[in-house]
Amino acid sequence: MTDASATTFPLSFALTPSQAARADAEREAVLADPGFGKHFTDHMVTIDWTVEAGWHDARVVPYGPLQIDPASAVLHYAQEIFEGLKAYRHADGSIWTFRPEKNAERLQRSARRLALPELSVADFIESVTQLVRIDSSWVPTAAEASLYLRPFMIANENFLGVRAAQTVAFHVIASPAGAYFSNGVAPVKIWLSSEYSRAGRGGTGAAKCGGNYAASLLPQMEAAENGCAQVLFLDGETGTHVDELGGMNVFFVYGTDRLVTPRLTGTILEGVTRDSIIQLAQDRGMTVDERDVSIAEWRDGVASGAITEVFACGTAAVITPISQLKAADFEIGDADSPAGTITMALREELTDIQHGRRPDRHGWLTRLDA
Ligand SMILES: *Cc1c(COP(=O)(O)O)cnc(C)c1O
Repeated sequence: MTDASATTFPLSFALTPSQAARADAEREAVLADPGFGKHFTDHMVTIDWTVEAGWHDARVVPYGPLQIDPASAVLHYAQEIFEGLKAYRHADGSIWTFRPEKNAERLQRSARRLALPELSVADFIESVTQLVRIDSSWVPTAAEASLYLRPFMIANENFLGVRAAQTVAFHVIASPAGAYFSNGVAPVKIWLSSEYSRAGRGGTGAAKCGGNYAASLLPQMEAAENGCAQVLFLDGETGTHVDELGGMNVFFVYGTDRLVTPRLTGTILEGVTRDSIIQLAQDRGMTVDERDVSIAEWRDGVASGAITEVFACGTAAVITPISQLKAADFEIGDADSPAGTITMALREELTDIQHGRRPDRHGWLTRLDA
């Protein structure tokens, strides 16, 4: 059998324009206050895959419900992966995205782990480009706003037997997103989950799959009940060191010249934001250590003043300062502490690059509209 998924021919996309595209006034009303993940653009991308034909039938079609058979494998066995990246409008009106090849490569790694077919990096980037081009009027102009792009892949074979599906679909949808912190960047408290883990050795922690998120929802509810914005997971094996939040990586600032972040052990999702922050910190002459960080180190570091700032990072919020870690029987840090200066400087530098306000010295931006 030839490996159809490894085809090197780029896909060409058929376009069916929506007959129900929103009028300018309706779209502008949405863009005035988009929130996050609530509104969707007029089109979406679909690409089908079968064992026999590989990836085929790439198309941009009107946004709308998918027809899914009740026996579709994804509904039963959660064979699903996704990505998240953004399109940014620069001051001159041009539209760009940030390191899309990183998301494409991560989708390939996630696909391998979930026994799904790999989509080429070129086809991934072309799919988001096609969608952003036809729905370019949905890319907000407001500062810090963006068009959030959500590529995802589902097993779509109508078969209840447990094995990797032989019919798969890849889609991209897009959703305008307002500034994550509409009233200025505010530090959050996070909740230490003592009962639950996010990932275990040999599991799917390094894959961006919906199943990981399903498992994080109950601990996330516990966090909310305890007045916290997010849940922090420890490593599943020893329960002593920090892995990450449900959907964000974590950094510790030591003094003014050192960052520490948990090393990638296979249970942590390799964030594009994480990788970019490591680079920007090194560019500033900071040392970045990727290693285990125990809760004891966190407590002692805050108490002694060695740890000066803590933050979380991911595409949606970019960088979120963490004021306090709360657990059932202890707290680390002061809930009222303001956002740290290094945290905010890194946040500003990264968002400035993404929005075209500073030179893109690492070649991280890809133009989407020309
Ligand atoms: C997506 C995600 C992140 C952040 O990754 P980015 O590429 O920076 O958006 C971190 N942790 C988990 C579990 C994730 O799913």
